[in-house]
Amino acid sequence: MTLFVIGKPIKHSLSPVIHNFWINKYKLGLEYNKLEVEKDLLPSLIERVRKGKITGLNITLPYKKDIISYIDEISHTAKDIGAVNTVFLKGNKVYGENTDGIGFTKALEKKKKFNFLNKSIYILGAGGASYGIISRLIEKKVQTIYVANRTKQKTTQLLSYFKSKTKYTKLKFVDWKHLVPGSDVDLVINTTSFGMKKNQIIEINTENLKDSLILVDIIYSPKETELIKLFKKKGFFCMNGLNMLVEQAAVSFKLWFNISLKNEDIEEVKRICEASY
Ligand code: NAP
Repeated sequence: MTLFVIGKPIKHSLSPVIHNFWINKYKLGLEYNKLEVEKDLLPSLIERVRKGKITGLNITLPYKKDIISYIDEISHTAKDIGAVNTVFLKGNKVYGENTDGIGFTKALEKKKKFNFLNKSIYILGAGGASYGIISRLIEKKVQTIYVANRTKQKTTQLLSYFKSKTKYTKLKFVDWKHLVPGSDVDLVINTTSFGMKKNQIIEINTENLKDSLILVDIIYSPKETELIKLFKKKGFFCMNGLNMLVEQAAVSFKLWFNISLKNEDIEEVKRICEASY
């Protein structure tokens, strides 16, 4: 039996490094591999999960939405987000979960003891990762979420979707061409993929921000995006996406093996990942 992370492209995925380390540490006698697949292979992979030949799957770009039509049941969270990143056999059903949002909040809670209750959060991006994180932020009862995205229509779509899910959290539109977070903002999150390539610079004004503001860029490669460099230079605490990646992986690991990883397991793997790229 084995596990896979599937997507296209997949060669840069750190998930095998993370999971194989824990699999070996806990002597599970399994192997976790990456598999670049075309969309038409998704049904047969799910069949192998159903037959117990595959213990678990992680799904990454571009199949997090597509996979839903082939699995039997998805969690409330995955339904909310409209995307699945973890698949396994639960009873006799192929089950899908999404661990991105919880991975994000855990990372910040651990690293900065950040308390999300009643915070104001400024989010760049309205893609899959943004949906995952916002769904979790609403659960955590943040006070205000500002959202900006290059394609305006996707921002309005996201806002109307989540407005129907919460009465507590205020959701506000921000124009991508006018990124000026105010002094109420506690946390800025980049959930876009803009920053993965050299010289991709998000034009954002940092003049009005409070000293305690935190920036999280969920990109983990490069380790420091231009956005992180800008905020660091201004003296703000910054975190890249590696902590989130490892925390979401730990949640998947618990779903597959019912093993709650210790902090030490998580820190060890972060160090290994850091050194691997
Ligand atoms: P996605 O659904 O494809 O969304 C991509 C987002 O990036 C959209 O908001 C898109 O805006 C924006 N974008 C793309 N090119 C842009 C450009 N040139 N200028 C401005 N905005 C641009 O992808 P996703 O799943 O949300 O993933 C987004 C990023 O998060 C990726 O870098 C991924 O690796 C990272 N991620 C990290 C973790 C982690 O654990 N650290 C987990 C999940 C994802 P438009 O709507 O205008 O196209």
